[in-house]
Amino acid sequence: MSFQLTILGTSSALPTSNRYPTAQVLNVLGRFFLIDCGEGTQTQMRKYKIGFSKIDRIFITHLHGDHIFGLIGLISTMILLGRDKDLHIYSHSELQKYLSAQVNFLYADEIPFRIIYHPLNFKSVQMIYEDKKVTIYSFPLSHRIPTCGFRFEEKPVLPNLKKQKLEEYNIPIRERQRIKEGGDFITSDGRVIPHSELTIYHYKARSFAFCSDTRIDESYIESVRNVDLLYHEATFAEDNQELANITYHSTGKDAATVALRAQVGKLLIGHFSARYKDNSPILEEAIKIFPQTRAIAEGDVIDVEKKLL
Ligand SMILES: [Zn+2]
Repeated sequence: MSFQLTILGTSSALPTSNRYPTAQVLNVLGRFFLIDCGEGTQTQMRKYKIGFSKIDRIFITHLHGDHIFGLIGLISTMILLGRDKDLHIYSHSELQKYLSAQVNFLYADEIPFRIIYHPLNFKSVQMIYEDKKVTIYSFPLSHRIPTCGFRFEEKPVLPNLKKQKLEEYNIPIRERQRIKEGGDFITSDGRVIPHSELTIYHYKARSFAFCSDTRIDESYIESVRNVDLLYHEATFAEDNQELANITYHSTGKDAATVALRAQVGKLLIGHFSARYKDNSPILEEAIKIFPQTRAIAEGDVIDVEKKLL
């Protein structure tokens, strides 16, 4: 089952002729999460075949235009297509004021679905969503305005029961789900057969973290620790380190340093400044520190592979 990221936009504040502002879609086992929604997101969704009706939850890191200008266009299209499912938006509480004014101005009472706003906490880590298969956390980043990153975690995959052990101990069907979920088995003569003897785990649960926009900061390293895949903005190369500091953005070197310190599996970098027609200087400095780095491009599809335990 898939754990797959599609890149819709890789530019920073100014779009270029071949780059769109930030937006990504993460598919976790058939749940599609839209992360940031820069201008043109809906066009990119069409181009890369992400159905509008698949998106039920949108996660907005912060209220700079290059991360939110696509919302009203996307919502308008959803209205025109007759959507009737609720749409959930996780963001700073002020987004509701900005967005509902536009939606109400354009569509008054004709909106056929509810938009449910979930305000984020910018002071500490927070679990913001959970279902049977996935848990999502927000955590504060270090930008000019309140900004959150997000961490998406697949729930641990339940183990299989060993057939031979089921027969050996004659384990009744009613007991089996409980054992799968972590329980031991007690035989009729009172012996405890531990969970570990009865089960076999196949795969490690997968995870992805999203950090945009931010300057490098000690405070969020723990929040991205050990993820399989980390997206971290790298707006500039080291030659613009001072500009990165002033504008609360990161360089390729910064992004790679976070990846190395947090011991992540792979690093994706994006949010490239329009001043870089070619992002290879940013990528090269990152690879020197963290070789498993990739510079993203519009339309990239990145799979987080299942790993055996
Ligand atoms: Zn920003």
